[in-house]
Amino acid sequence: TQWVYSFGAGHNEGRADMRNLLGGKGANLAEMASIGLPVPPGFTITTEVCTHFYANGKQYPAALKADVQAALVRVEEAVGLRFGDAAKPLLVSVRSGARVSMPGMMDTVLNLGLNDTTVEGLSAASGDARFAWDSYRRFIQMYGSVVLGVDHHRFEEIIEEVKLSRGVVEDTALSATDWREVAQGYQEMVAEVTGAPFPQDPEAQLWGAIGAVFESWMNQRAITYRRLNDIPAEWGTAVNVQAMVFGNMGEDCATGVCFTRDPSTGEDIFYGEYLVNAQGEDVVAGIRTPQPMSAARAKPGEKPMEQVMPEAYAELVRVREVLEKHYKDMQDIEFTVQQNKLYMLQTRNGKRTAAASLKIAVDMAREGLIDEREAVTRVHPASLDQLLHPTLDPKAPRKTLSKGLPASPGAACGAVVFSADEAEARAQKGESVILVRIETSPEDIHGMHAARGILTTRGGMTSHAAVVARGMGRPCVAGAGSITVDYSAQALMAGGNIIRAGETITLDGATGEVFIGPVAMIEPQLSGDFATLMEWADKVRRMRVRANAETPLDAETARKFGAEGIGLCRTEHMFFDPERIGAVRQMIVSETEEGRRTALAKLLPFQRDDFTALFRIMAGLPVTIRLLDPPLHEFLPHGEEEIAELAASLGVDALSMQRRASDLAEANPMLGHRGCRLGITFPEIYEMQARAIFEAAVAVAKETGKAPVPEIMIPLVMVKKELEITRAQVEKVAQEVFSETGTTIEYMVGTMIELPRAALTADKIAESADFFSFGTNDLTQTTFGLSRDDAGKFLPHYVERNILPKDPFVSIDPEGVGALVEIACEKGRGVKNGLKLGICGEHGGDPASVQFCETVGLDYVSCSPYRVPVARLAAAQAAL
Ligand code: PEP
Ligand code: MG
Repeated sequence: TQWVYSFGAGHNEGRADMRNLLGGKGANLAEMASIGLPVPPGFTITTEVCTHFYANGKQYPAALKADVQAALVRVEEAVGLRFGDAAKPLLVSVRSGARVSMPGMMDTVLNLGLNDTTVEGLSAASGDARFAWDSYRRFIQMYGSVVLGVDHHRFEEIIEEVKLSRGVVEDTALSATDWREVAQGYQEMVAEVTGAPFPQDPEAQLWGAIGAVFESWMNQRAITYRRLNDIPAEWGTAVNVQAMVFGNMGEDCATGVCFTRDPSTGEDIFYGEYLVNAQGEDVVAGIRTPQPMSAARAKPGEKPMEQVMPEAYAELVRVREVLEKHYKDMQDIEFTVQQNKLYMLQTRNGKRTAAASLKIAVDMAREGLIDEREAVTRVHPASLDQLLHPTLDPKAPRKTLSKGLPASPGAACGAVVFSADEAEARAQKGESVILVRIETSPEDIHGMHAARGILTTRGGMTSHAAVVARGMGRPCVAGAGSITVDYSAQALMAGGNIIRAGETITLDGATGEVFIGPVAMIEPQLSGDFATLMEWADKVRRMRVRANAETPLDAETARKFGAEGIGLCRTEHMFFDPERIGAVRQMIVSETEEGRRTALAKLLPFQRDDFTALFRIMAGLPVTIRLLDPPLHEFLPHGEEEIAELAASLGVDALSMQRRASDLAEANPMLGHRGCRLGITFPEIYEMQARAIFEAAVAVAKETGKAPVPEIMIPLVMVKKELEITRAQVEKVAQEVFSETGTTIEYMVGTMIELPRAALTADKIAESADFFSFGTNDLTQTTFGLSRDDAGKFLPHYVERNILPKDPFVSIDPEGVGALVEIACEKGRGVKNGLKLGICGEHGGDPASVQFCETVGLDYVSCSPYRVPVARLAAAQAAL
């Protein structure tokens, strides 16, 4: 086995497509070096070593030591320096690099190889004692905290003391002697805390750092990050060891982080931040204010790299072109300029907002970098959700509190909380919260996830808060410097205002503004790019996309988002209207068919109006109407008072009402008297609904000249006989209405497949069905024997412990529920070739489930209106 892969200086053993083995960083360093970009030489220790390490009680493979040694010699030869050499020491960086990027989750050590001897060599060789001692103290600090576990505050205290004694504010004002004093102070402190002197042997340092990177794969924040992002622990991390280049050697040196396009908007501009005379971590640490890259984006007083270092900037612009042409995607890069020469330290596909990913995909297709089909694969369907979310109403009154950086778009409103734990706790109780922090760190991700929005008072557009919030799709305002946060007082202050924990603020992540109290929001406007991408998606998808909708508003929203019909109209949702619930209850409590018919006659005109409205909006598109499903007692009043009220209004005595209510009550209503069981025992209910449907359809046909094709759907069928009986009822009503009105229209009668028995006997059921629609909510409930209403209490625990990979009510369980769906499809189509098949459970809007539906050959998916674009894109990706 090859455990170590070299890169740079003409010896590239890796490639971009070897990310599983080399991690993203290692694979791309090798790739960049092999396309001729300036990459300092180094080597990657593979992810297989990490796996081996954890599988063997934290032991390395036997050959590793020699392999690392050989690779290190190659680096020494390439740069003409020697590791540990007193006169010309080679220094290296040691960084983690997993298969997918996990920003800030694992550890990095820079300037490794420095000790009390080599620091003098570095000083003499560079002719810059200040630089050498600054580098040494940085090394002790990083190694001390990352490898030796010394609290980083202990280091900061020492710097602060020295700065105070010199009367300076900025780190850059400290001299060589000052940094030497800091370095010595560090060493004494580390020795005191760890009980051992700071390691002086470069080889021991190297293995210490390598071990720390592998260990960091299993630290708590990495574990949490993996859980939130579905990253398996088995993947492991690689370790990259690379010759150091120095951005902190003087005014002709710099370091920066940038994106080849704007990661917030997708705009085609070179976007990012850099710092003169600094090392990598200074840019993200927020100690000094990073400066913009391009002059076009610079504000007055800022010093864009384009002006300050024109040569290095021009080289970087060239590199940007090369990278985008090569990778055919927006890149997130890290670079260092050492004495005006540019070095590339990292490239990867850049994280971006949903809006940016959409714009970049469409732009790149137009630029000819990718084709339309490729563009369709570039946007995560679930991320479209972010674009469909509200923004602030420009006309709404508001009171400004502060302004920071527009770090991640979208508007959010909620109660202020000051800790991630608090954010999580309150969000679990259903509260909307805004997480406010001076800055965030990887320890805060659970709270960032739980919060509606994130506000920080420190840090730039590439700060942890900004990067993570964009990835999660949370609105974020970063670096709002005019706000002071006092954690102990649980309050924030800005411009004379005090906001305490629990009070409401509103963020606009697109402008960076922060407002006191709530601000009205409006529905999103969809951009031209959105329509373009959707058009491309529609060209490639096979499955149709419908919406679950019963109100005219939902139906209109669904149409606006491109729904091609209604896949599920839950008629019971129409029964709760205050105008009708009286008649519904009258029907339920009456003990005779006649009594029920009287009440149902009152409901008929309402239902007819409901369906008329839907048929009009859907203008000839298919509309699937499901007859009444839930058990009757769901419509009854609860509690003595409500029962007494109802009794009085219907002129019956409270006691018999009470008795009727308890007669109807069931121990297990989900498995009780519901679905077509109601239609069979009280046929007059389905008769009324069928009549309403046909009368509405005939009316709309006459009115518009275009006949709707109602698809009448019978719920919860378990045996064919149920469908036969209810179907006959519906057909009888159809004939009545057709002869009464003199108009005949086409219609279909089908069933939901939402019980295991129905799936297993789908060949029999298909004989009486014109279509099947999979009700995967109930099918999941009944297949798992998991109550839809109660599983929320313990299911998260199952997912957390990986007993179930995902919540099966969110994403279809392919092994169990999926197998039943597949059986039903085969059996159904075996009897009726071309039998129309769809899905209307919540899974219809989940991208992974949509992929499953494509695989089993469904004709359409149906989901809530807001998820229609998600489903359209997911269906397209599934078809590709
Ligand atoms: C289902 O069971 O999947 C379904 C769509 O019906 P309901 O959610 O109304 O039970
Ligand atoms: Mg159901």
